[in-house]
Amino acid sequence: MRASKYHLNTLKEAPSEAEVASHRLMTRAGMIRRLAGGIYTYMPLGLKVLRRIEKIVREEMNAAGAIELLMPVVQPAELWVESGRWEQYGPELLRIKDRHQRDFVLQPTSEEVITDIARNEIHSWRQLPLNFYHIQTKFRDERRPRFGLMRGREFTMKDAYSFDRSAEAAQASYDAMYAAYQRIFSRLGLEFRAVAADTGSIGGSRSHEFQVIADTGEDVIVYDPDSDYAANIELAAAPCLIAERAAAAEPLIKTSTPGAAKCEAVADLLSLPLAHTVKSLVLATDHADKAPTIWLLLLRGDHDLNEIKAGKVPGLDQGFRFASESEIVEHFGCLPGYLGPIGTTRPVKVVVDTTVANMHDFVCGANEVDFHYTGVNWGRDLPEPELVTDLRNVVEGDVSPSGNGSLLMQRGIEVGHVFFLGDKYSSALKATYLDENGKPAALQMGCYGIGISRIAAAAIEQNHDERGIVWPRALAPFEVVICPVGWNKSEAVRAEAERLYEGLKAEGIDVILDDRDQRPGVMFAEWELIGVPLRVTVGERSLKENMIELQARKQAESQQVQTSDALDVIVARLT
Ligand code: ATP
Ligand code: MG
Ligand code: MG
Ligand code: MG
Repeated sequence: MRASKYHLNTLKEAPSEAEVASHRLMTRAGMIRRLAGGIYTYMPLGLKVLRRIEKIVREEMNAAGAIELLMPVVQPAELWVESGRWEQYGPELLRIKDRHQRDFVLQPTSEEVITDIARNEIHSWRQLPLNFYHIQTKFRDERRPRFGLMRGREFTMKDAYSFDRSAEAAQASYDAMYAAYQRIFSRLGLEFRAVAADTGSIGGSRSHEFQVIADTGEDVIVYDPDSDYAANIELAAAPCLIAERAAAAEPLIKTSTPGAAKCEAVADLLSLPLAHTVKSLVLATDHADKAPTIWLLLLRGDHDLNEIKAGKVPGLDQGFRFASESEIVEHFGCLPGYLGPIGTTRPVKVVVDTTVANMHDFVCGANEVDFHYTGVNWGRDLPEPELVTDLRNVVEGDVSPSGNGSLLMQRGIEVGHVFFLGDKYSSALKATYLDENGKPAALQMGCYGIGISRIAAAAIEQNHDERGIVWPRALAPFEVVICPVGWNKSEAVRAEAERLYEGLKAEGIDVILDDRDQRPGVMFAEWELIGVPLRVTVGERSLKENMIELQARKQAESQQVQTSDALDVIVARLT
């Protein structure tokens, strides 16, 4: 590629809303352009990076026996009604209507569609196991799209879905994907860690996240350097902290002030040191008390008070549920107590939700009509230490679950997630196959996501300096840039630059020749910002001594190389 024929547009300034390095640098380097909140155009340089990620992901998925197909972005609501997620999925699910007023969604994930494919395509145990995947645009109407590609609303994901005859076989499929993910993130050249994770709105019984280590990560990982224990604190913290508070019978906050004052009190609490391990807080009223105690509850997910008030708490779709006032009346046989004036609480019935450990007689919400949640587990009676033993150690330096080492914490960016689903979707959608005895049985499933576009951002969070991006080699938009100094002035420079350019192309190397006749300082700064791993400088003075200069983006020192050796040395550096 010649720079004069390509589209490069680097910027001096980053957009003011860009809070993290990857967002700033991808914008400045001209890799992405914002169209709307959380919606970006992948500019040519950015698209090249995504294609490199996709290539590695594809190769490893194929090598692991997964089969590529391509499912639609637009999915009919019927399938989501069948699975139950039309009701459960929060406002992250973008719902649209066609001209006939039929409901559709823009896919945030494809369990429903693939299960529909499976029930039509898979008939016999002889066809199993099967694993289908695609690399496709996803849409999630994120509460807070931010950090550029890191948390977009439209983004690219690889999602795979395995189908097996038994839970054991499905576990083997899960393990194969887990191993493929290890290879993928190693090949991408990223420092990462696999951690036990929450299953969120996808559901299922077992899951692991792959986290790229970076201080700007939104997730916190707890791990034991001396054993293989590692967990997302979302999984580790919530039950543990709740249980600890419960054990001490000490509410986080006690107040009898009504309405808005309660919310303010909660807002104060957000600044507690606790807040860095806990993403979300919900108010609840203990109706057993005459003067209601306001408890602060911890839910998984990431939501703020305004959204709780707006009834938009995506985490609530797993066991926790948004309920209208009339539903509460139906369910509890009375109004939530704190709707009335303080001190007039009425008795409510005990609610038992089997998806969480223990339920008590309360509802919670944001002190406004129609914004209440039922089935919230506040865990006052989570007495079984076994329930939380391996989750207890969430304070850095605590003894690890193995009993030996002490736990450490670090921040991470979730770039991949594998789930053991069992028959959650196959039972709901009646996806069965005939076993060896000719009897129908539910398919056992797993699902496996990789955030293709998020990886580009995560790689930058992990690899950048004050001058710009430092791409791991596997991800760089170009492998080498040739920077001739004095392109228009010197025939010799031009000839040598062209010779190297053609030579590298012939070797199959993705090289760009900067033939724009720029001043060296400007040219070098631009390529350092873009992050190309290797720069070849061709200048008149060195050429007189038959030398060119190699400068690795990662290293401070440059290297002078004889022109006669240059091609071999460059190729050797890249392989
Ligand atoms: P998060 O916790 O960051 O919201 P998630 O757990 O909701 O992610 P999954 O449903 O596990 O996401 O989706 C699989 C992968 O898709 C994630 O591991 C992540 O890499 C990627 N991903 C999810 N949401 C986004 C987003 N808004 N923007 C970019 N990538 C995303
Ligand atoms: Mg999410
Ligand atoms: Mg997550
Ligand atoms: Mg996830």
